[in-house]
Amino acid sequence: MSQSTASPSTAPLPFEETEIAIVGAGIVGLSVAHVLTRLGISVRCFDAGAAGGAQSAGGSRIMRAAYNDPRMLWLARKANTGWARWEEEAGRPLIERTGSFLIVSEAEAELKRLAGLDLKVRFVSPAEQEELLPVHRPWSRPVILEEEAGTIRARDSIEWLAATLGDALHEHTPVLGLTQRAGHVLVSTRSTIYRARRVLVAAGMQTPMLSGAMGVRVPQVYSVHQRLLFPMTGDLAARPMVSFRDKSDHRHGVLYTYGLPALHDGLFAVGLEPSDTDRSGGGHPDQVIEHTLALAAETLPGLDTSRFTIESCVSTSLEHPDDGAPWESERLEVVRRGAVDFFAGGHLFKFAPALGEMLAGMVLGEEVPAMLRPE
Ligand SMILES: Cc1cc2nc3c(=O)[nH]c(=O)nc-3n(C[C@H](O)[C@H](O)[C@H](O)COP(=O)(O)OP(=O)(O)OC[C@H]3O[C@@H](n4cnc5c(N)ncnc54)[C@H](O)[C@@H]3O)c2cc1C
Repeated sequence: MSQSTASPSTAPLPFEETEIAIVGAGIVGLSVAHVLTRLGISVRCFDAGAAGGAQSAGGSRIMRAAYNDPRMLWLARKANTGWARWEEEAGRPLIERTGSFLIVSEAEAELKRLAGLDLKVRFVSPAEQEELLPVHRPWSRPVILEEEAGTIRARDSIEWLAATLGDALHEHTPVLGLTQRAGHVLVSTRSTIYRARRVLVAAGMQTPMLSGAMGVRVPQVYSVHQRLLFPMTGDLAARPMVSFRDKSDHRHGVLYTYGLPALHDGLFAVGLEPSDTDRSGGGHPDQVIEHTLALAAETLPGLDTSRFTIESCVSTSLEHPDDGAPWESERLEVVRRGAVDFFAGGHLFKFAPALGEMLAGMVLGEEVPAMLRPE
């Protein structure tokens, strides 16, 4: 019997080509993929589950620009314009532009600071508080209204963005690994290997895991968070309502409490941001629920606090700088390794249109924007 002398096959390997691959179809990945598809760029956006099924799940998010860091304020403003453009494109409202209440201890100084940043802010009387947020008892301290803030229709936004991607969106397709090669990156999924010129990883809590497998450290942590959804009493659910963030009441050791219409089933969401010491691992869900219930019973007479559902979710942020300052999620970061960019941060929903543009420009060959470079 003669042995085969055939040389190894020189047929091209069965890879699928794409210009850009995006790992993660949360609000960030979807926004970037949306901008790229609108530019006619070949893109694939992969999600291990359903689009928007992780941190980006749920009916609503607060849109506001009142940040301490001027770069974040700039980004929120840019995003605000972007949301209006998306609404036009979508042909439906994606934000309820109702405004948002901010309650802080040094209210006069904060109002002055925010007004100095050109934000439309003013104090609201107790009567107006009742008008704008009828589920809440008026506060005994000054309340600032950020007039151009609002409540994002989160679920609608995810659905619309996902629909604009068409075949570029691959749900239930986990990316198992990324392999850097000369001039391209191999993106391994269960059934197909994609060859991409560049890759953006916006995989939420999984980003450090994917980066770690490539020997890259992304300084992102996550915490588990509970918020409660209550039915509104009477006909309150039919009324437009502002959201609130109360940073003045630190009982139970919380940094701040917040509430907003859930924008589905007539529910109102109430949550609290625990202190730093409560942030690790799964936090203390029993205490968080107990404190949220006590808070709602005391301050939110427009809610039926005898009936509620618990929403547990993960939220990511960059590692807390060990400088003793109170924790605020006010930093975003991209760690670049060759043709792969890892994006990390928290409280991202509001920034979506601006982040979409910024990160799309970046993966198309621009430098990492200054505000996203590691400090
Ligand atoms: C309760 C709650 C309230 C919030 N309130 C606000 C608010 O009021 N305003 C605001 O601006 N922000 C808010 N945030 C934060 C905001 O929702 C998140 O920052 C944002 O949704 C994160 O989006 P993302 O796309 O980065 O991550 P995610 O939505 O987590 O998306 C990452 C995706 O990556 C996918 N993935 C992971 N690993 C892989 C893999 N190997 N292969 C393929 N896919 C993978 C996941 O399935 C997931 O869908 C809130 C968050 C929570 C949880």
